[in-house]
Amino acid sequence: MAGRGAMVSGRAKGVTRTIKVTTERLKDLLALEAELGEILPTSFIVRRMRMIAENQGEVTLYGVAEEAETANIRTFLARQGVPYTLVETERPSQVPSHVDWERDALPVLIIGNETLCKPTIREVAEAIGISADIEDGQTYDVAVLGAGPAGLAAAVYATSEGLSVIVIEALVPGGQAGTSSRIENYLGFPTGISGQGLAGRAYLQATKFGAEIAVARQVERVKCGEVYSLRLDGGDMIKARAVIIATGAVYREPPIENLEAFTGGGVHYGASYLEAQLCKQKDIAIVGGGNSAGQATIFLAGFARQVKMLIRGKSLASSMSSYLIERIERSPNIEVLSNSEVKRANGGRKLQSLTVFNNRKQTTQDIDFAHLFVFIGAVPATDFLPDQVKLDEKGFVLTGDQLDKNCLDSYGWKEERRPFHLETTCPGLLAVGDVRSGSIKRVASAVGEGSVCVQYVHRILGNA
Ligand SMILES: Cc1cc2nc3c(=O)[nH]c(=O)nc-3n(C[C@H](O)[C@H](O)[C@H](O)COP(=O)(O)OP(=O)(O)OC[C@H]3O[C@@H](n4cnc5c(N)ncnc54)[C@H](O)[C@@H]3O)c2cc1C
Repeated sequence: MAGRGAMVSGRAKGVTRTIKVTTERLKDLLALEAELGEILPTSFIVRRMRMIAENQGEVTLYGVAEEAETANIRTFLARQGVPYTLVETERPSQVPSHVDWERDALPVLIIGNETLCKPTIREVAEAIGISADIEDGQTYDVAVLGAGPAGLAAAVYATSEGLSVIVIEALVPGGQAGTSSRIENYLGFPTGISGQGLAGRAYLQATKFGAEIAVARQVERVKCGEVYSLRLDGGDMIKARAVIIATGAVYREPPIENLEAFTGGGVHYGASYLEAQLCKQKDIAIVGGGNSAGQATIFLAGFARQVKMLIRGKSLASSMSSYLIERIERSPNIEVLSNSEVKRANGGRKLQSLTVFNNRKQTTQDIDFAHLFVFIGAVPATDFLPDQVKLDEKGFVLTGDQLDKNCLDSYGWKEERRPFHLETTCPGLLAVGDVRSGSIKRVASAVGEGSVCVQYVHRILGNA
């Protein structure tokens, strides 16, 4: 393979430079890694380059695009920025002959020489090599829980300031922001940027500085102590001297009968370019009347034949910004169905219709829809936290000045100092972004808090 490689182009100071990354360079990096006993970020990139150069990087997915398991893998690959080919099939003749084919084996994912039948997202992440290996019992300066904007910002600042950092992400980097089709109010992107685009850049930036990012791994338990112990799914334990909770919020599921049967396939909780492709020339429904529902409706109307917004109340005026309402009113293929509540999702393998109740006329009808998008808010992801962490009445984490002396005493705060601004009732355990009580639910504020909290981490660890 001597001399084989891939060309990489980059622009700096107005000049474009193209370099050749060869497999020899990878060998050097691997040797250095073995000597140091750690994986170097540069070699991660070179590995990916070699896979592509040697035609091992090819990722092919066999399955039915609108079925939930296939759709979940596609969403994961797309949000992680992994190029792949989808072969839409239900027939054995199209699946490679070495796969022991049954209808139930789909989806099948082929990555280089590896074949996975019905893989879990964690298995996909491991096969592609995009998730850091967890070494049981390893101790880090900082563990960042969640790789949304807040967690990725914390990882960038902490690693760039010399701390060893592990980031644990339950699904895929980007968090809620990663599901947004276009973020138009984040500083520095005058024409907007997709949530996926922003997340991909932040992920690379954190990795470049040396953050280890474990993808598709869930934190199940946090145990307080001098050093924090974290239990992950599958039973692995890691330790950290400081912990940053950046787990944000998880979407709220509406009480619609039979909804889970279609989640990921016909029912979605985010609207990125991938979901939009599935909606081409189809009739789709949006549930929710807030700004995120409005953004998604306008975006998806550019792909779908007809978009119906189903809202419980009389109008959008009380819940949505007027600029979005104006755009919705101007769109010929968007219709707002007021006083409408979805009661049931119907279909076989794919979503076919929704049973909709009109709470004013007290009537029920089935309306054909190929896709349903749900935007009815989110609840904080805090169920893995120990009882020593004080939460507000809605489950968001209280920090800093929100904690009075009585509260600190009753939660066993032993330090002479008060908690830092973003610190919880446990010394060394901080909370940032949407998961924090009273936080502003925006990308910029999540990034701001994730960046700022690293200063407190230094003080907690005695570095400043
Ligand atoms: C559709 C949509 C559009 C939006 N548009 C805009 C916009 O245009 N402008 C704007 O400013 N804001 C927008 N927002 C809001 C913005 O996305 C959020 O405020 C921001 O993402 C919060 O960042 P975060 O890092 O605090 O949390 P999140 O983005 O929620 O990230 C938390 C991460 O933690 C992970 N996690 C949760 N539990 C665990 C666990 N136990 N173990 C490991 N990982 C875990 C999750 O998988 C997730 O990746 C939008 C939100 C949505 C949903």
